[in-house]
Amino acid sequence: MKQVRDKSFVPFIASATLQERIKILAQEINKDYGGKNPLMIGVLNGSFMFLADLFKSIEIECEITFIRVSSYQNTESTGKVKQILGLKEEIQNRDIIIVEDIVDTGMTMQEILGQLASQKPASIKIMTMLFKPEALKVPLKLDYVGFEIENKFVVGYGLDYDGFGRNLDAIYVLKE
Ligand code: 5GP
Repeated sequence: MKQVRDKSFVPFIASATLQERIKILAQEINKDYGGKNPLMIGVLNGSFMFLADLFKSIEIECEITFIRVSSYQNTESTGKVKQILGLKEEIQNRDIIIVEDIVDTGMTMQEILGQLASQKPASIKIMTMLFKPEALKVPLKLDYVGFEIENKFVVGYGLDYDGFGRNLDAIYVLKE
């Protein structure tokens, strides 16, 4: 059991299981993007550990960058807007792979996808380490999924609870 702040978490996905799956995902990228030069865009903070391990098993020519999504901002027109911060690269005509830690309601990914797609990349695909199908609220095509999980709160391997727990080398789930 792991204590993160005021909550207890129990083992959910072991480190070895994560690493095995990540190798397979990397092989799929190596196969699908052979002869291409994709740009992987990791969404901070959660994706940093997953993408670091994944990237080590990428054998094709591939670039990497990271973005951050600002928290909801009030605007006069729409009320809620999430902004992409930190993207310096030109993505027009590039093959883009967005890499997330977890897709829950899918709202964050839908927003990112819309904003990146408007910059006219050659192609755009989504990879997520974890996916909660039961929580999904918007239509979203996920091209590469590490693990489908139940609609429960998880931490570790980049994912936080209240800023902590990201350093755990495996995924843990909230103890019921
Ligand atoms: P969505 O927009 O898909 O609802 O949420 C995506 C974001 O919510 C993720 O990038 C992550 O930061 C956070 N999130 C969703 N579910 C979990 C979870 O089970 N654990 C943690 N630590 N974060 C989560």
